Amino acid sequence: MTFPFKPFLLLCSLFWIVSCKSQMDVSGIVSKNPPIVNDTTFVNLKDYSQDFIYDMKYATSDNFLKSKVYDCAECYLRRKTVIALVEANKEFIKKGYKIKIFDCYRPLDIQKKMWKIVSNPQYVANPSKGSIHNRGGAVDISLVNLEGKELDMGTGFDFFGIEASHDYPNLSQEIKENRLLLKKIMTEKNFNSFDSEWWHYNLKSGLTDKVSNAKWNCD
Ligand SMILES: [Zn+2]
Repeated sequence: MTFPFKPFLLLCSLFWIVSCKSQMDVSGIVSKNPPIVNDTTFVNLKDYSQDFIYDMKYATSDNFLKSKVYDCAECYLRRKTVIALVEANKEFIKKGYKIKIFDCYRPLDIQKKMWKIVSNPQYVANPSKGSIHNRGGAVDISLVNLEGKELDMGTGFDFFGIEASHDYPNLSQEIKENRLLLKKIMTEKNFNSFDSEWWHYNLKSGLTDKVSNAKWNCD
């Protein structure tokens, strides 16, 4: 009985040595290239999914400020916001829709620029406090169908009136259902809605992240 057992143990030992060696190799590679991306690192949404539609309003003058405040249209967010947003978009795609993006992370300098143009906290967050957009945890979004047509949400993006509220009652059934669809999936994926703006969602866990002034490259 002992005869076949010894080679078996030898084989096990060899396997153990080989597997340890391979683990060491892997950790050696990791230590040479330490991971620099974590949950709160700012990343570009485009690097995580090609399934979003972009209409970055503040990179054009087609916004309530009538001013182009971004040098180029990019959607940067903290990685955890991107991961949750991609998950939400997968759910919308299953239902025949896609997320359309109006705004993402907004560096503090841009917030200051906006505040200079419209110094009214009703329309622009005061940069002395900063907003969740400055923390990389907020997105302004709508939905389009698979032909790219935007769903009717009752008002345009950045419409500052009571009609943009989630609870505004005088809307058609279709508009109410469209807003509700957006809200249902987004809240299921750990975003909070904002009562007075149907387009605004922020990641629940993003509230405690720091206001940032990190900027992206426009090359
Ligand atoms: Zn917003």
